[in-house]
Amino acid sequence: MSDIMEMLVRRGFLWQSFEIYGGMAGFIDYAPLGNNLRRKIENIWRKYFVINERAVEIDTPTIGIEEVFIASGHATSFTDVAIECENCGRVYRADHYVKEKLGIEVDETVEAVKEVMDVYDLKCECGGKFKEPAPMNLMFSTKIGPGKGKKGYLRPETAQGMFVDFKRLAGYFREKLPFGVAQIGRAYRNEISPRQGVIRLREFNQAELEFFVHPAEKTHPDFSQVASDKVKLVDKFDNEHEMTLSEAVEKGIIANQILGYFIGKTRRFLLEIGINEDKLRFRQHKDDERAHYATDCWDAEVETSYGWIEVVGIADRTDYDLKKHSEYSGEDLTIFVPYTQPVKVKRRRLVPKMNKIGPTFKEKAKKIAEAFSTFNVNSDADEIEIVVDGERIKISKEFFDIEEVEEEIAGEKIVPHVIEPSFGLDRISYAVLEHAYDKDVVDGEERRVLRLKRKVSPVEVAVLPLLSREPFESKAQEIVSLLRSKGIYTEYDDSGSIGRRYRRFDEIGTPFCITVDHQTFDDDTVTIRDRDTTRQVRVKIESLPTILKELLESERDITEFGEVFR
Ligand code: AMP
Repeated sequence: MSDIMEMLVRRGFLWQSFEIYGGMAGFIDYAPLGNNLRRKIENIWRKYFVINERAVEIDTPTIGIEEVFIASGHATSFTDVAIECENCGRVYRADHYVKEKLGIEVDETVEAVKEVMDVYDLKCECGGKFKEPAPMNLMFSTKIGPGKGKKGYLRPETAQGMFVDFKRLAGYFREKLPFGVAQIGRAYRNEISPRQGVIRLREFNQAELEFFVHPAEKTHPDFSQVASDKVKLVDKFDNEHEMTLSEAVEKGIIANQILGYFIGKTRRFLLEIGINEDKLRFRQHKDDERAHYATDCWDAEVETSYGWIEVVGIADRTDYDLKKHSEYSGEDLTIFVPYTQPVKVKRRRLVPKMNKIGPTFKEKAKKIAEAFSTFNVNSDADEIEIVVDGERIKISKEFFDIEEVEEEIAGEKIVPHVIEPSFGLDRISYAVLEHAYDKDVVDGEERRVLRLKRKVSPVEVAVLPLLSREPFESKAQEIVSLLRSKGIYTEYDDSGSIGRRYRRFDEIGTPFCITVDHQTFDDDTVTIRDRDTTRQVRVKIESLPTILKELLESERDITEFGEVFR
């Protein structure tokens, strides 16, 4: 186990799920500190992608009925290519295994994998031969209800819940584009051989925003806020750029302004929670890597001990999902967009010749004439086909005239496009921890310190009596209650020397330690110690909540708030 993983397990950030039964790859438990960290990251995400967007947050079931995933295409094409050993029965994800054993990047298709296997005589770790490669669907399937039940799946992304609710959502926003819909929740993928610890999970946490826009207006009203931010980009031809977002959009490296806007916002969010900018880049999907419906896609990648990993995918999903759900559900998932002024258009319409239709079609004549009124004629047709009561009827030219009319149209129905930033909260939380993990030397002794941003530190303040006896302990407990009543995550610790206790809290990233010492009983003051500089200031107990709140919400220096103590 790596140094940091050992610490995260020992100190209560992450635990192996089902540990007492031997564990199971692809599942982790959020222990107390990790849980708090991830929740804080989620809340900052909300600030960025819900509260400060024209967006709302919803919460839909994690189990979906089969219809949803047939329409979205997941039931048939959400697959990875797997290879199974004939001898030991182990199954591997083909592209990962080929990369590991042969150092070759192979396309994720059965044919490509087969070709590599034939050329290189690929063998299992046990020496056994592999069966033919085959696609494996990554969704967990389940059965809803008793008996034969109804087929369902655990959702592989939160996004579908938002597409399925589109009609209601459009009504909620009074059909005014653009609008965003966010969801934070669990997603499930039955990954074939998840061997990358916390990076590849079978149950994980996503935060997704679906930003619905007019297909012809891929601009964002707030783009100017991030336009001059410089970002590191790796384009689809593997060219590296460091340029402003406005330049990247103007040059067409990023396909449209909304994608540029969300790349900028994602960068700012990741930096705010503590991702190191030197280890952050945005990589564009290559043409053969992109989902077939996406026109452009950028991954935010961060460098960790697992290499560069994708933590966010920002994709232009076009109108693919809404069109599919409309097709499969039969529901109209369009939005009516009024023109600024009604426009006049010329239309060719059919004029029924009733004196001929009547005697020929008898009781159907009226319905045929009605069907004519909605029929669009594009050319001088000799014959047309209409549907009356489910019956297709061919009607020749002798039964109608074609007339050109001018009509006024108030607007048009469109299927919105969607731009989706999709965040993997587990990978982000882990990367934040890795980037914060540091070692230095304090008082001649090595110290392990988690330099977390104050905003995401799971324990914000520790209160420590200098000596483990009365009246130090009662006074410290009093301060704990005071701070907790103000909503500050506070812990109390009286075991071991004060130096050891400071180090214990440095290791879990607690930004401030409050110490009750002898002077406390003379003048009602305590010391605040800063984790990063180890400097201390002395302040009045009564002003502690206000000072700490200010410190925790900013990155201000403690020396601005009191007399330096040492
Ligand atoms: P995707 O829909 O594959 O683009 O995934 C969106 C985000 O979810 C990715 O950027 C990852 O951060 C995260 N993610 C995807 N698959 C997994 C997984 N198996 N374990 C943990 N996070 C994942």
